[in-house]
Amino acid sequence: MNGKQVTAIVVGGGVTALSTARQLNGLEYTHTPDSCQLKERHAAIAHGQRIYQDQLPDDLSSCRGSTPSGCWFDSFRHTTLDEAVNCLAWQENNARAVDWILISKSKAGGSWNSYDPNQKTISPDTWMALPDAPIDGNNQNLARHNTPHFAKTDAASLCRYYQDYANTHLPQERMFFNRTVTTAYPKEHLWHVELDDQTQVSCQYLILANGRMIPKSLKINGENNNPNVSHTTAQAIQNTSHLKPGKSILVIGTGLSAADTIMDAMCKKLKVTHVLPREHTRLEAKYRPNQPYNALKSLSPESYKEHHALAELISGKAESENYQQLINYSRFETIHAS
Ligand SMILES: Cc1cc2nc3c(=O)[nH]c(=O)nc-3n(C[C@H](O)[C@H](O)[C@H](O)COP(=O)(O)OP(=O)(O)OC[C@H]3O[C@@H](n4cnc5c(N)ncnc54)[C@H](O)[C@@H]3O)c2cc1C
Repeated sequence: MNGKQVTAIVVGGGVTALSTARQLNGLEYTHTPDSCQLKERHAAIAHGQRIYQDQLPDDLSSCRGSTPSGCWFDSFRHTTLDEAVNCLAWQENNARAVDWILISKSKAGGSWNSYDPNQKTISPDTWMALPDAPIDGNNQNLARHNTPHFAKTDAASLCRYYQDYANTHLPQERMFFNRTVTTAYPKEHLWHVELDDQTQVSCQYLILANGRMIPKSLKINGENNNPNVSHTTAQAIQNTSHLKPGKSILVIGTGLSAADTIMDAMCKKLKVTHVLPREHTRLEAKYRPNQPYNALKSLSPESYKEHHALAELISGKAESENYQQLINYSRFETIHAS
């Protein structure tokens, strides 16, 4: 690979990188009006035409994401949070394939490789699939955890699924896993990319699909290299696995990782003190409606029973002797490990 020049380099091995690589390899997503339940919304796109659009409709009420193009793509697969629609087809078009390589620090599956293997998806398992390899009841390799309305899968299963996808849907010679990009800089119309083993490659287009899962540090005394402090849900689940029921833990934060950590701790019958930052008053800020991933509150009670129960607890609509809050605490000086 050293010295190679390609059209595009994808950095990352998660679902974003795999999906991008697949399209760079010639996969096109097209519209299927005959089966599409949202004909009006997609009226501008004829049968078999690529769904690429730079003029997006204002009304993307099925939106489950934060980027307009993501919402547009999703509108070909779902109406509301839970309803699938059938407006998307795909086909190989070798004429559109470009010369690409993928470089990833992790194995295929990205961040899911670092989660606790039993970490269940919040989303229904079908949503975790790449469209050209649907997840359904027939995937032997995938654990299915049934909830009243849909099945979920777990991190170990998803990693198997994404690794299988990389093995079967993408050319192996173009992908370099367990390699880290250390530097990238533009020079003379090209991106120059360096890897941890000093390999150098260059490209016209650099696609950073490197996620946003770098844990935040509070920069307080005793925070780092402390076995009693976790920065990810996976670490927290592991670090609390030896604690007896009734022991106390402190959870700082209002995102998805905090929610999953609290749910795990409560299953273990630990006492949780949940610290909400100054600007948060109960469910006001992050847990607001229409933000599916950040918003426990917006998840329907029937489909997301556990998350709904936690939202009720955080908002004060329910109580538990194992859960209390500290609001307005934003500064911590020391951590005593014992
Ligand atoms: C507890 C928890 C539960 C979740 N549940 C869900 C869910 O139910 N449904 C859902 O859709 N999402 C869920 N998510 C979010 C999910 O993890 C992300 O949506 C998904 O992983 C994003 O994929 P990605 O490809 O964008 O990034 P990532 O999966 O984070 O992948 C980033 C990739 O970039 C690589 N990388 C980073 N830096 C470099 C570098 N310098 N050089 C080379 N490679 C690099 C990494 O190794 C990795 O392969 C959950 C997240 C958490 C924390």
